[in-house]
Amino acid sequence: MGEKQGHTPGLRYRWISGGAASAVAVKLDLAQYGPDAGPLIYIDTGSEHPDTERFLDDLEGWFGVAIQRVFSARYADTWAVWEGERFLRGPMGAACTKILKRHVREGLKIPASAPQIWGYTAEEGKRAETFRKHHFGEVTCVFPLIDQQVSKADCYALITRAGIKLPAPYLLGFDNNNCLPCVKAEGARYWNRIRRHFPDLFNRMAGLERDLGYALVRINKVGVFLDELDPEAGADDDTPEPISCGITCFIAEQNMGEAA
Ligand code: SF4
Repeated sequence: MGEKQGHTPGLRYRWISGGAASAVAVKLDLAQYGPDAGPLIYIDTGSEHPDTERFLDDLEGWFGVAIQRVFSARYADTWAVWEGERFLRGPMGAACTKILKRHVREGLKIPASAPQIWGYTAEEGKRAETFRKHHFGEVTCVFPLIDQQVSKADCYALITRAGIKLPAPYLLGFDNNNCLPCVKAEGARYWNRIRRHFPDLFNRMAGLERDLGYALVRINKVGVFLDELDPEAGADDDTPEPISCGITCFIAEQNMGEAA
């Protein structure tokens, strides 16, 4: 993978996800501990919206610090994982999370005692505590947004007030800046939004679903293939769709005893 090995004791590891919350968490940590306290790391899956690179560049200007990009040496992007592994997602998580994110993160061999900075927002206290418990003894967690009661909406406002445009997917109505598309998404609204804004990706996934015999959308707990999805389905659904990548998958894998 494309990253440096070797660690200096006492470093803080600041994760940048490409979204608004982790950016603000890192900004707060930089303000408190300074730029020399540790690296800023972005795990590049090769499948984020191209505007993510612009956002990362803008963040580097805001932080005054370069962001390290790390990535898998095994697969170039999510499509390569899904097609190569012939797997999208299952009860134990998504193949892309495991290979493109978790394995890359583990490859950095960060010492358990090193503080790691995560962008859980004030609304996500329960999820953050679950994460902390599951990584007790392995990861020293720091949650600056929870400690300082910064909400997701606050993060959007802080980024915007800094003169930085949010990554394009937020402006198209997505709740996050995950890969496009994200196989963790089960909602009709999400996939119809993908169909509207990224029809090539929608059609490619519709074909892959049939090839693999797996439907991503769940309506009343029943799988619906994308090529059968009503284009109006989910139009009146305005509940946020929390799509968690990495952490939830990781916990599920651990709970289910998956060796990876
Ligand atoms: S954001 Fe979605 S598509 Fe990307 S690695 Fe995570 S689960 Fe896979």
